[in-house]
This record gives sequence, structure tokens and C-alpha cells, in this order.
Amino acid sequence: MATNSSGILNSAYLAVEYVDSFLPENPLQQPFKNVWEYMLNSYTKFQIATWGSLLIHELSYFLLCLPGFVFQFIPYMQKYKIQQDKPETWEKQWKCFKTLMFNHFFIQLPLICGTYYFTEYFNIPYDWESMPRWYVLLAQCLGCAVIEDTWHYFLHRLLHHKRIYKYIHKVHHEFVAPFGMQAEYAHPLETLILGAGFFIGIMVFCNHMILLWAWVICRLMETVDVHSGYDIPLNPLHLLPFYAGARFHDFHHMNFIGNYASTFTWWDKLFGTDSQYNSYTEKVKKQEYMEDKKTK
Ligand SMILES: [Zn+2]
Ligand SMILES: [Zn+2]
Repeated sequence: MATNSSGILNSAYLAVEYVDSFLPENPLQQPFKNVWEYMLNSYTKFQIATWGSLLIHELSYFLLCLPGFVFQFIPYMQKYKIQQDKPETWEKQWKCFKTLMFNHFFIQLPLICGTYYFTEYFNIPYDWESMPRWYVLLAQCLGCAVIEDTWHYFLHRLLHHKRIYKYIHKVHHEFVAPFGMQAEYAHPLETLILGAGFFIGIMVFCNHMILLWAWVICRLMETVDVHSGYDIPLNPLHLLPFYAGARFHDFHHMNFIGNYASTFTWWDKLFGTDSQYNSYTEKVKKQEYMEDKKTK
């Protein structure tokens, strides 16, 4: 679709293809090609788009939640927990899991069923030959993230409006100290409203089925990380310039006001909605400095 509708994107893809012809082959390419072709030969497009997408979403979601879930049992990891006074409880996690299952199978699955018809309508290919290279996919995912973050900032801020907050977004804020599984714990309407931001990037950039899966994985990596409740060192996501991270979104759950963006910090900076967060981090830093001085 993007290749038909956008001349700029089309030229960019052609330029990348030209540069790519001079680069050595990626060693992971052949095994991945074998898996992809096995999938194409064994399943129909409908099965790949529907059950494949469901599997990618469920596997990525729970695998990404796993480290944060395990951290609660490791005393060493507790120093990285952001809201140390509010530990995860079985009761909260079980309640969250049940709501997630409802949302995944009764709200998200019907949407996933539309994937096949979307790819057919816009002639999105599934074949190996037209699959974009990994760095093109990464750039497309980054583009999708910038678009989603913008959508999320404004719609999320609107959902906090005092007239409508209690009807929809209050559900997501039930837990003041978030944990990874809570990322998609929300009112069904919120899943639809904020989830729409996921599809805008797809409408702009999608030139292969694989972008849908790559973007699902990237988006889940980001949202599970910011809800994890842990700010662990050497987190590779922090290599991304302006990445908001767990502390940023954890503060939103603790304070309810400010830090409305999902992935990047720029919209909150631009509109000053990160001011309470900035004064809070300053205060915490000062306290830590004073405590440090006392112990020395
Ligand atoms: Zn919120
Ligand atoms: Zn949240």
C-alpha cells in the first residue's frame, strides 16, 4: 500500500535496496528463510494472518512479561523496583491475568481476524522475495512508534479528562504500582481507542506481512518494559533517544497527572506535562544525596 501511495517511501526503499546489494549476507538470513518458506508451504494466508498473529502476540506478551514476573522472587532485584513500598501480590496478578484473557480473546482476537482481509485488500505480500531487510523493518517500526506515541499522548490525555476518566481509563489505573502484565489491562473501549494508534503506522508503512509482526513485538517490548515496575541497568531500550522508560510511566501510575506519552518524552516536554515528574525526580535525588552524606 505504502509503495503505491507514497513516492518518497518508494524512493527510500529503492535506495536501500541499491545500497544493500553491496553488503555481505546476514548469517541468520538462511535459517530464517527456511522457517518462513516452511510456514508459507504449510499454512494458508488466512491461517498465517489469523492464528500466526495471535500466536506472535500471546507468545511475545507473556515471554516479555516473564523477567519482571520472576524478579519479584529474587531479593537481589528488589533494589531495582521503582515503588518499593508496593510489592506485587498474587491477588492483583491473578485478577490482571483474567481480565487480560478476556481482552485478548474477546476484543483483540476479533480485530486480529481482520488482518487477512486487510492484507488482501491492500495487496500486502507474504512471500520471502519481497520481504524488507531487518534494518528497513527496524526503521519502519521506529516510524510506527513515533506515530503511535503521538496518538497515545493526545488520546491518553483526553481519557484523563475528569468528565470521562471514571468511565474508561480508571480500569488501567487500578494498580498504582504497575507490573509487566498490566500493560494491556484496560477497559475494552480503551483497548480500541488507544489501540487504534497501533494501526496508523501500519497504514502508512506496511509493504509486507512481516511488518505487522515486527511492530507487534516492538510495541509489546516497549509497553511491557514501561509497566514492568523495575528500572534495571543496561536496558537496551534506553539506547533509543528520548525513550521514556519504566520510571517515566511508573510515575504516571503513581501520580495520575503528567507523563501521558507511551514511548518518547518529547510531547510531555513540549506541553510541560512532565513538570511534576521533573520536580519529583529532583526531590528524590536531593533526598538520596542527603542520606548519602549522613552515612559517610
Ligand atoms: Zn493514564
Ligand atoms: Zn500504564
